Amino acid sequence: MARVYNFNPGPAALPEEVLIKAQKEFVEYRNSGMSIMEMSHRSPEFQDIIDSAETALRDVMKIPANYRVLFLQGGASSQFAMVPLNLFRKSKKADYIHTGAWTKKAIPEAGRYGTVNVIASSEDKNFNYIPKVDKSAFSSDADYFYICANNTIYGTRFTEFPDTGDVPLVADMSSNIMSEKVDVSKFGIIFAGAQKNLGPSGVTLVIIREDLIGHAMDITPTMFDYKTHADGGSLFNTPPTFNIYMAKLVFEWVRDMGGLDAMEKHNFSKAKVLYDALDESSMFSATVAPEDRSIMNVPFVTGNPDIDARFISEAAEKGLVGLKGHRSVGGMRASIYNAVPAKAVDALVAFIRDFEKNNS
Ligand code: PMP
Repeated sequence: MARVYNFNPGPAALPEEVLIKAQKEFVEYRNSGMSIMEMSHRSPEFQDIIDSAETALRDVMKIPANYRVLFLQGGASSQFAMVPLNLFRKSKKADYIHTGAWTKKAIPEAGRYGTVNVIASSEDKNFNYIPKVDKSAFSSDADYFYICANNTIYGTRFTEFPDTGDVPLVADMSSNIMSEKVDVSKFGIIFAGAQKNLGPSGVTLVIIREDLIGHAMDITPTMFDYKTHADGGSLFNTPPTFNIYMAKLVFEWVRDMGGLDAMEKHNFSKAKVLYDALDESSMFSATVAPEDRSIMNVPFVTGNPDIDARFISEAAEKGLVGLKGHRSVGGMRASIYNAVPAKAVDALVAFIRDFEKNNS
């Protein structure tokens, strides 16, 4: 079977060039006589892989020198606990903006270790927008301020980040990291599970400002202390070596494409093509407020679950897969991450138009 147009939300499409390169190096990595998966994480070959991964990522995201890059495990979900365990150090208070499923999980996790103030929420409209925040609601003595930069399920995106002054801003960027330029210096911590824009699932990226390392609560397990991994160069214990190698190839692919300047053009243009088609349609509509629409995850509905189901199954027959929406929104969702080519979105738009013509 030929490769399909893959709109999966994560694990998601990877660049074909990366898969081919990994295939070439799969059995024997360069002159080592073995696969990366068979190699010590303390070998010079692997050290070179993890160093090159970090160099390419720093280059692509323009990460300032006073930030550390950590390759961890446990998924983005572990960060829901790791962030409070490491950052609750003075007031043990944190402000959260609640934008759906991923903050719904992060909030109670932080609440186990301190006080969470939910200063804004979009729950009143099933999370289909990013709530406006009033600075007067911010806790000036908070240890950190937390957002989910792009909600994978609801398809919302922060177009502007809150100005939190001296309070470190923490962002879950699992589903939009490296999709557009960000000023890393505005954040205390950026974290992301790899399985959307960075590679296969299994590695979790943390970009953390140096001064936030080394203050973990006493109860923090060693493996949950950022200092453990910063001191150990992400090699305190056995890391997911093959996943770090794959992430390195993806970072280099983005760099060779022209970095985030080129990537954001590619992504904004794909998203516009799809949203324009949905806005023009009288059968389909995008569910998110226009000003808060994600350029990575595009939920849309017809309003009729039977028609939605038929759309999804007929699309799959045409090689357009992974379009089923999350159960909490229903309908469809097209995840159009970095590795999804423009021609996949063009094919989806053509199918949307054909389907509408044939069914109205
Ligand atoms: N945050 C966001 C925005 C997500 O989309 C996801 C799911 N991929 C998670 C957190 C949880 O990630 P993981 O499965 O890596 O724990």
